[in-house]
Amino acid sequence: MQHQSVRCLIKDFEKRPSVTHLLEHPFIRQAHGKDMALQKQLADLIQKQQQSGSIAKTRYERIHTRRPYHADVASSFCIDDDLVNLEILEEDTIIHQLQIRYADLQIYTYVGDILIALNPFQNLSIYSPQFSKLYHGMKRCVNPPHIFASADAAYQGMVTFSKDQCIIISGESGAGKTESAHLIVQHLTFLGKANNRALREKILQVNPLVEAFGNACTVINDNSSRFGKYLEMMFSPTGAVMGAKISEYLLEKSRVIKQAVGEKNFHIFYYIYAGLYHQKKLSDYRLSEKMPPRYIDNETGKVMQDIVTKETYRKQFEAIQHCFRIIGFTDEEVHSVYKILAGILNTGNIEFTAKSSQHQTDKSDVPDAESLENAAGLLSIGSEELQEALISHCVVTRGETIIRTNTVDKAADVRDAMSKALYGRLFSWIVNRINTLLQPDKNICNTESQMNVGILDIFGFENFKRNSFEQLCINIANEQIQFYFNQHIFALEQMEYQNEGIDAALVEYEDNRPLLDTFLQKPMGLLSLLDEESRFPQATDQTLVDKFEDNLRCKYFWRPKRVELCFGIQHYAGKVLYDAYGFLEKNRDTLPADIMVVLRTSENKLLQHLFSSPLTKTGNLAQSRARITAASRSLPPQLGTGRIKVDTMEMMRHPEETTNMKRQTVASYFRYSLMDLLSKMVVGQPHFVRCIKPNDDRESMKFSRDRVLVQLRYTGILETVHIRQQGYSHRILFQEFIKRYYYLAFKAHENPPATKESCIAILERARLNKWVIGKTKVFLKYYHIEQLNLLLREVI
Ligand code: ADP
Ligand code: MG
Repeated sequence: MQHQSVRCLIKDFEKRPSVTHLLEHPFIRQAHGKDMALQKQLADLIQKQQQSGSIAKTRYERIHTRRPYHADVASSFCIDDDLVNLEILEEDTIIHQLQIRYADLQIYTYVGDILIALNPFQNLSIYSPQFSKLYHGMKRCVNPPHIFASADAAYQGMVTFSKDQCIIISGESGAGKTESAHLIVQHLTFLGKANNRALREKILQVNPLVEAFGNACTVINDNSSRFGKYLEMMFSPTGAVMGAKISEYLLEKSRVIKQAVGEKNFHIFYYIYAGLYHQKKLSDYRLSEKMPPRYIDNETGKVMQDIVTKETYRKQFEAIQHCFRIIGFTDEEVHSVYKILAGILNTGNIEFTAKSSQHQTDKSDVPDAESLENAAGLLSIGSEELQEALISHCVVTRGETIIRTNTVDKAADVRDAMSKALYGRLFSWIVNRINTLLQPDKNICNTESQMNVGILDIFGFENFKRNSFEQLCINIANEQIQFYFNQHIFALEQMEYQNEGIDAALVEYEDNRPLLDTFLQKPMGLLSLLDEESRFPQATDQTLVDKFEDNLRCKYFWRPKRVELCFGIQHYAGKVLYDAYGFLEKNRDTLPADIMVVLRTSENKLLQHLFSSPLTKTGNLAQSRARITAASRSLPPQLGTGRIKVDTMEMMRHPEETTNMKRQTVASYFRYSLMDLLSKMVVGQPHFVRCIKPNDDRESMKFSRDRVLVQLRYTGILETVHIRQQGYSHRILFQEFIKRYYYLAFKAHENPPATKESCIAILERARLNKWVIGKTKVFLKYYHIEQLNLLLREVI
């Protein structure tokens, strides 16, 4: 590297500390992003200068220090705030702009109506109530781009047009979606000033509470959301906040029983463990001070050390208790929640060993009863019944019911399935309970006049070394959101073309609808095929992939040779290889009926509720098995052989219940919730926030051009730019157009009318092609402006 040049530059910078000047230097433009050492050197330098106050403060701070807020703010508008204003809309230009802005800590940038948010990886002082005031009711161009401006636009749109709004936040893990969602809620609560302070307080506690149960530390993000969330804030017609409602999607339940290396279980387990430890209450919940449970201790020993030494866990425990209290959970409910969590932890510690007997060799036993007793005690169920349900199951053979024993592996699977079901249902209950506690008071505001702003914070597109069923669902959800994004962006353009009487077929774009159909179509879409195969007890993951291959004959699906159980999908955001191992089991997500029966006998009211339904027959395990025996005698002969389906077994236990409520697979529930989400979103006016992670090291001031480029590509920003390029990014009113380019076709004394003809005269004289003319506007390609400006310079 040319040290000489760098030294010169740095000297220059020290004399004249302008970040923009520095980064716009051609040498830096070339080297920056590729040369890590240089990047680090520059980042340090800029930071040092900023700390010493030599560099002017960020634009936000400059505005903030100006008083009064609104005076002279127009001067803070900068043309680069919106990338659509750039005349050259190419990848390089866009990245370069974002990089310059990032170095100046301007993390937000618009692309038309879309907000790009770069993760600053440092706390910025731009989210105080003063900033909420600053952005309140202001036109977008008045202040620098900001997440509050997006929240404000949604709120103003709702109040002005009495229309529901939704803010869709996307981006990969660690890009800043959840933080953005918090900031939006913060600004909306500020705007929706209700007299009811308590309600505002409650709403602010919702995210922290739900995230304690749904977020976890992963290798990418210490606070990674392991579920999708749609939070609707309800307002009265005058814009006062009335209540809130959350919908949750696809909680990653498998995390409860196992975590990848370097990752952790859901936060709440560590919070309560630390909280109870410091309160000396661990033994009340039958948790050991010496040996943390297996589910939370995948790096033996380290967890306990963290729990004892780390203040944060304990503080978080207190914060969660505060959340529960403010939102309105009763002490009894909270106590039950803790008992169930401790019950899950103890369940995870139940071990099985093989036990041989005269007749069977595949029997398992619970050698150490302590964990079993503890789990049963905390869940208020009988320990013998629990053991029975773990180590055996019911089979109907030739009209006869027999009890089969479970192998050690099978018993461990049943145990883990029970833990997952407990946690999943507990999580849904907490969400539902919050919704009940935060629903608008019908006496104050009737449902019809109520409006809402929805905030979608959903996992981004995932493509790992190994991609399983979870990634498939997440990616389908992203595919759907992308479709919605396309629809919206194009629908708007289309509408303008239509209004202006321009042939709508002029806009072309890459439509991901055919791929969505490949997933969602009935009866031959991927999810339907998966459900169909899940209904066959004999089916295997292999037969499933064969079925996909036979039926999904399209360019989006392929099956790599020589890799078993593998199939590929060409997603909107790139190619992903999926490993179908375990797909059927994951989709069935069955909780053995015996476990369900045992949990229903619990004396813990909350637990009873989690596993009950209005039609549930009461009774213990023995009674339930006896019911099956009785029912099996009347079975039709074809069902009397072999292991019967879980469906049938459930039906025999609770005939009324199962005929009313067909068993649901994960895929069918997922499809349902996706449709439900969309139905909420389509009625609203959308606002898009695209979060971008500037580097993978979570370092502030570090901008990796390659990483940003990849994200711009698959979050569809470049696609949007592309759309703008294909479409007519400049739409100028006749009057304005003539005012600007008058000299290209007219003489100084001429006074052409603001008509179509005058505009055509200019366009023809300029010899541009591919322009179109509407009823009131001239439609130009992005490059036309540059050509026109060049010509203008020659003429004048
Ligand atoms: P995602 O939800 O997209 O996975 P998060 O919102 O959890 O990502 O952000 C990951 C981390 O990045 C946060 O824990 C925080 O440290 C940092 N971060 C994100 N956005 C901001 C912001 N606006 N200001 C400061 N730090 C942020
Ligand atoms: Mg998140």
